[in-house]
Amino acid sequence: MSDFDLIVIGAGPGGYAAALRGAQAGMRVACIDERTTAGGTCLNVGCIPSKALLSSTEHWAEFTSQAEYGIESDNARFDVAKIMIRKDRVVSDLAKGIAFLFKKAGVEFVNGRAAIAAPGRVSVGDREITATKILIATGSTPTTLPGVAFDETRILSSTGALALAEVPQRLAVVGAGVIGLEIGQIWSRLGAKVTIIEYLDRILPGLDSEIAKSAQRLLAKQGISFTLNAAVRSVAAGDLVTIEIENRSSAAVETLEADAVLVAIGRRPHTAGLGLEALGVKTDARGFIEVDAQFRTNIPGILAIGDTVPGPMLAHKAEEDAAACIDALAGKPHPAPDYGLVPGVVYTSPEIAGVGLTEDGAHSPGRNIVVGKSSFIANGRARAIGATDGFVKVIACPETGKLLGGHILGHGAGELLQELVLGLRLGATVGDIVHTSHAHPGMGEAVKEACQAALNAPATRVRHSPA
Ligand code: FAD
Repeated sequence: MSDFDLIVIGAGPGGYAAALRGAQAGMRVACIDERTTAGGTCLNVGCIPSKALLSSTEHWAEFTSQAEYGIESDNARFDVAKIMIRKDRVVSDLAKGIAFLFKKAGVEFVNGRAAIAAPGRVSVGDREITATKILIATGSTPTTLPGVAFDETRILSSTGALALAEVPQRLAVVGAGVIGLEIGQIWSRLGAKVTIIEYLDRILPGLDSEIAKSAQRLLAKQGISFTLNAAVRSVAAGDLVTIEIENRSSAAVETLEADAVLVAIGRRPHTAGLGLEALGVKTDARGFIEVDAQFRTNIPGILAIGDTVPGPMLAHKAEEDAAACIDALAGKPHPAPDYGLVPGVVYTSPEIAGVGLTEDGAHSPGRNIVVGKSSFIANGRARAIGATDGFVKVIACPETGKLLGGHILGHGAGELLQELVLGLRLGATVGDIVHTSHAHPGMGEAVKEACQAALNAPATRVRHSPA
């Protein structure tokens, strides 16, 4: 008999959620991670530490506008070491929470680097453990530019950029995606001169371009510089970092000097060393493990979820994969995850959030839509709390009124979006949202107003953005 029913490799939001759900379904489960604590990228070096630092620095940034609210805040100062201590405490408290849940559910946590010796057999150091099923949840690692190695002192991945001991005077950020913007804003708020360099001619590719453009304008007003349509030709680190940037239209090359550079150009599946090639586990051209609707690889008994498989590389998507995968193993009914309904949130200030179809129609070019918008400037609650930047945009079908997408720029956008995520999931129309009572005064009234505007709007055709 095998040691376990299920071995999960990786204790991130995909892996630990799968391990707990498996144990709750009566399976004997081991969860292996090379980190000493569970939580994966998300808890240890991703979602949570970045949000803790965004929170500390948002409190700090608010001091600069306290006078408007009638509050004097002379002599305020910050302490980077204390900000980092708070971030580390938030992380370790949550890690203890997962350890407690593992213990309570009877999941055995094994610390070490795992490899799959054969279906049913996993080696961790000099130990071999066996199980009927093996679930790969090893997540992802940051990608770097060709020939540019992370030293985490001058050339930073997100991990290094979330643990700096002091504020760099000048921080260059390569990549205007979620991670680049969030970490750029953290250090910009503390006084770094931040320049974000992006290959495309827009920030946040994949999000609604009107929302992205407005967000860029607001972030620029806060002092963040953007160099778009620019290819990084070289990065050289000495006492400073020197970056050669080529304008992709004119081919002109400029040199940027900075104290540090964050390379945030994306992440790739972390599967090296697992033994996938020897086992014959199929991966796609980008290294993602190919799975079927129940997260089974082509090798019987080996499954994969989260950042190692195609789909949005997000913690909540990894968790949803875990639930669907384990329910399938346990023979329980579970709706197949719909990656088209996975919301994306950028936790900058103002926040940026989106789900479903964009007006650019990247996913559905050429179809007819109606668009409704409502600006926070006309919202009573936004005025009262001084959060008038931004707007809500909804996209709907002109014939049926069915919601197709929602995009929000503004204070608390991520939480506000959930109403539209649920609406999409339930097949709601914009009329359903208009006829739902929204408390006054609330930022959510802008969501209702945007839906009302969509009801009155003429149909247009989805524009297809070449980006
Ligand atoms: P991971 O969380 O990457 O966990 C995989 C684990 O497997 C790791 O702990 C790793 O040590 C372990 N492992 C790998 N190989 C082995 C091996 N051979 N043996 C043993 N252990 C192994 N997502 C959001 O939804 N919201 C956010 O706000 C957000 N912010 C982010 C901010 C940053 C800076 C970063 C880097 C990421 C952020 N993400 C965010 C993305 C999110 O962290 C990932 O999508 C999520 O962690 C993926 O979960 P996972 O379980 O697939 O893998």
